[in-house]
Amino acid sequence: MNGRVRIVRGRVLSFRDDPRLMSERAHRLIEDGAVRIENGEIVAVGEAGAILGDAPPDAAIDDCSGKLVMPGFIDAHIHYPQTRVIGSYGAQLLDWLHKYTFVEEQKFADPRHCEQVARFFLDELFRQGTTTACVYCTIHPESVDAFFAESERRGARMIAGKAMMDRNAPAALTDSPQRGYDESKALMARWRSRGRLDYAITPRFAVTSTEAQLEASGALAAEHRDAYVQTHLDENFAEIAFVKRQFPWAKTYLDVYARYGLLGPRSIFGHCIHLEDSEVDALANSSSIAAFCPTSNLFLGSGLFDKKRLDDAGVRVALATDVGGGTSYSMLATAAEGYKVLQMSGLSWPATQAFYQMTFGNARALSLQDRVGAIEPGREADLVVLDAHATPAMAHRMESHEGDLEEELFVLMTMGDDRAVREIYVGGRAAKGR
Ligand SMILES: [Zn+2]
Repeated sequence: MNGRVRIVRGRVLSFRDDPRLMSERAHRLIEDGAVRIENGEIVAVGEAGAILGDAPPDAAIDDCSGKLVMPGFIDAHIHYPQTRVIGSYGAQLLDWLHKYTFVEEQKFADPRHCEQVARFFLDELFRQGTTTACVYCTIHPESVDAFFAESERRGARMIAGKAMMDRNAPAALTDSPQRGYDESKALMARWRSRGRLDYAITPRFAVTSTEAQLEASGALAAEHRDAYVQTHLDENFAEIAFVKRQFPWAKTYLDVYARYGLLGPRSIFGHCIHLEDSEVDALANSSSIAAFCPTSNLFLGSGLFDKKRLDDAGVRVALATDVGGGTSYSMLATAAEGYKVLQMSGLSWPATQAFYQMTFGNARALSLQDRVGAIEPGREADLVVLDAHATPAMAHRMESHEGDLEEELFVLMTMGDDRAVREIYVGGRAAKGR
């Protein structure tokens, strides 16, 4: 397919800025638009008549007229080894990890298991319209190799890393400061900045790392200035109390990560619910990223993310599923739960802002805005085709609101799931259900 021109025709919608700050001027919608793709890249966007008029006779033309064509969704925090843990009953964070997750993650010592789950996971992301994700693997290097190999085979833009844990987990799921460092370093040599792949240094969280391991993580970050760092922060009260007992010198949870040089513009902190004011300031001052994981935060009873507080303080925010603490792979469903979390704080979340966040906003949070997250010439051709009439109930709901973009997007996020995702393109290749 690569080499041949592909045209995707539809209602092309893409964001150029944050609608919270720019309102109407933040997006561009071309009602009868088209995207021209060559060699995995978007080379032209415009009115369908003009794009089709310029197309070579052998171009592949995908007619998605009437459907929304948007940049593929980006998930800023997800665990691929937890596909068989999602929806596990009745526990909060620390018990949930020990009862379900740490049991399941031990299976990733087997490379065949890693390969099977990596295939399932990427199939599922694509079915849901997600084309890029920041992914936690297990402590096993095999889990990272399997995930990256499968992502590369599919031409997907993915960020991932080996979880580092050297305490408070089963023996089979712990490495050591040196082993965690050596294995991460070897994986980085193999996969970092390779094609569409990139690496995230992944100390799981302060509960499961010694000071020596966090120091080793900081050393990796210092040696690779542009590498990502991903971990968890201030998710649950028992977790926070545990961290404070374990690091008595730390004034706050974030102090632990700060001491070892783990804050920065490529550092993604999952959850960030119970933040002290000094932590909000430190996140803002370091340009670190807070990942908002609403389905997970509600499911595990962790708490309500205070998006307004972080927005007002200038903290960079991303949206994420956090499967398997999160209960849906769908960024649409995740946005719907995000809306409900904000409602619980007396706020709301306009659909245009939510769709900005899932696409260009998350691309910006991950410093990928020049690669993905927008439908512009020169960007990689990761697209999702959405249908707000995908189910009878959605079509019924849409009857009185045709032509109203805000309503259409809100229906998609509150009622939509994988059925609303008609197609996705990954590096220019149609990839839903393939
Ligand atoms: Zn997580």
